[in-house]
Amino acid sequence: MPNALLSSLKTHFGFNEFRPHQEDIISGILAGQDGVAILPTGAGKSLCYQLPAVMMPGTTIVISPLIALIVDQVTALHQQGVPAAGVHSGGGDQRNLVFSQFSKLKLVYVSPERMADPSFKEFLQRQTISMIVVDEAHCISQWGHAFRPEYRQLGGLKVDFKCPVVAFTATATTSVRKDIAVQLKLTNPLMTVGNFDRPNLKLSIQQRTGIQQVIDYVVARRDQSGIIYAATRKGVETIAKSLERHGVRATMYHAGLSDTQRQRAQQQFITDNIPIMVATVAFGMGINKPDVRFVVHANMPQSIEQYYQEIGRAGRDGLPSECMTLYSAQDKILNQQFLSEYEHNPELMHAMRQKLTAMNSFCSATTCRRADILGYFGQPATGGCGHCDNCLTPPHMIDGTELAQKILSCVYRVQQRFGMHYVVDVLRGTASEMITRYRHDQLSTFNLLPDMTKPALIYYIQAMIHLGLLTLTSGQYPVLTLTDAAKPVLKGEVPVQFREFKKSEKPSKRSKAKAEVGATDKNIVATLKKLRKQLADANNIPPYMVFADRTLNEMASVKPQNDAELLTINGVGPAKLKQYGAAFLNALRL
Ligand code: ADP
Ligand code: MG
Repeated sequence: MPNALLSSLKTHFGFNEFRPHQEDIISGILAGQDGVAILPTGAGKSLCYQLPAVMMPGTTIVISPLIALIVDQVTALHQQGVPAAGVHSGGGDQRNLVFSQFSKLKLVYVSPERMADPSFKEFLQRQTISMIVVDEAHCISQWGHAFRPEYRQLGGLKVDFKCPVVAFTATATTSVRKDIAVQLKLTNPLMTVGNFDRPNLKLSIQQRTGIQQVIDYVVARRDQSGIIYAATRKGVETIAKSLERHGVRATMYHAGLSDTQRQRAQQQFITDNIPIMVATVAFGMGINKPDVRFVVHANMPQSIEQYYQEIGRAGRDGLPSECMTLYSAQDKILNQQFLSEYEHNPELMHAMRQKLTAMNSFCSATTCRRADILGYFGQPATGGCGHCDNCLTPPHMIDGTELAQKILSCVYRVQQRFGMHYVVDVLRGTASEMITRYRHDQLSTFNLLPDMTKPALIYYIQAMIHLGLLTLTSGQYPVLTLTDAAKPVLKGEVPVQFREFKKSEKPSKRSKAKAEVGATDKNIVATLKKLRKQLADANNIPPYMVFADRTLNEMASVKPQNDAELLTINGVGPAKLKQYGAAFLNALRL
């Protein structure tokens, strides 16, 4: 009875249609089956359990790893008029409500720690539980990127409760997926694996020549909501300060800030008070903000899994969004240093090194980015996507054998004891005080490349590091040294190809990724967004919980004039009509 499901969808959540897989997963749950659903970020996993939870008798328990996630979901459900509450270790939980009014609640969100508490479990065993949902289920696997020991105790759920158990995650790794069903001891679960492609994300990856690349990119998108990831706290602070100097409003988030400072930063970002967030990887999990229009990686992520997870925070609402990653030789050193964290576990260290190698090759690849990612996750794509940097502007490759030989021999002549800038100066014939002192102006490689600009030479040296022909030592004064792979190049046995250096990587014009699709009236959208922000502030919720961007776009083009017309808009259901309908109709009439 798909129509009955569709009408429940509209009544409870205001949506006019299901997204891919939602209907099948929901039908499986309503039939009482266990399940594992693997759908990419933004696919709409919450709805897959929230709708059946509202439709079934009894209460659904949702296990969720983060307080921020619990609070966000409970608040959003209240907006839809669904009785829900959260129990977790942080302050502000609704424990009393849960104990006194349990049977009235359709969904109760619980942290894994709370679920492990025996007296709470006994309490739950006396109630009518319709199903148990394990959200962010990859936390159960130590092969994942977010292993949580408390999740391991969830293996007892199938024994302690007689209801269906359903697990949700966006993990793309097959070993983690298999682990989930095994650890949770699910009985013949309905396995749903969605398509991992995120067609609304435009992917590009460039070699980094300096922080200015990040700044230029963000300045061109200053009014949009965006996240910039940097590898270190220092990197975060440098970028945030530089953005500030350029008049861009940005906030920051890293482990060196106090809890209060971090919470405040997160709040400012989520409520659209400040559009840009500069952060380390510490930021992001539990951020459900659906209208993040771009994600920039100022440094190369440590694995394709991590990259995919972080770019996934862009465009959860399905509207066009951009992801730009920068990589450089310094990142390579930094990532090698991070690897030493796994020294105590050689097996894990080996696995992490392989992931890093895959990420390195992914960055310098000249093939379709989307096809590469999907292939990595075992979902081969046919042909190019036509929408990533490599598809849009196929890289121009040049024969760089002679150039590489000149650079390598210069590194050799300065006895592998100097850094990148020094080698560049020698090659360009800059007789600095230091070069004269070391008599390197007497070398045969001095002034060997007088016509090459400094940025171009740095670019090619970085590319050689990436290709594994040169390495930079770690430490305060990194020094260029030759690798074993350099010998055959010097002997002319192996050719070298470079992606040609382009002078300016600045975005030539404003980004094409606009939140608005179709010929919607921009002024009306702007008015509606203003109203949304006012209502959100008054209700102390993030704007996206009032209505999504898509819903506002549709309102602006359809221009509904009364309740019945407003209700036809995707994203408007009875609860929101009642709460916000009059205000929006009023704004649309002006
Ligand atoms: P996930 O957990 O899979 O990353 P969410 O459950 O947070 O994704 O959903 C992402 C966004 O998609 C939310 O803003 C949600 O309201 C929206 N959404 C979910 N299902 C639908 C649907 N059928 N139609 C329109 N929007 C939807
Ligand atoms: Mg989710």
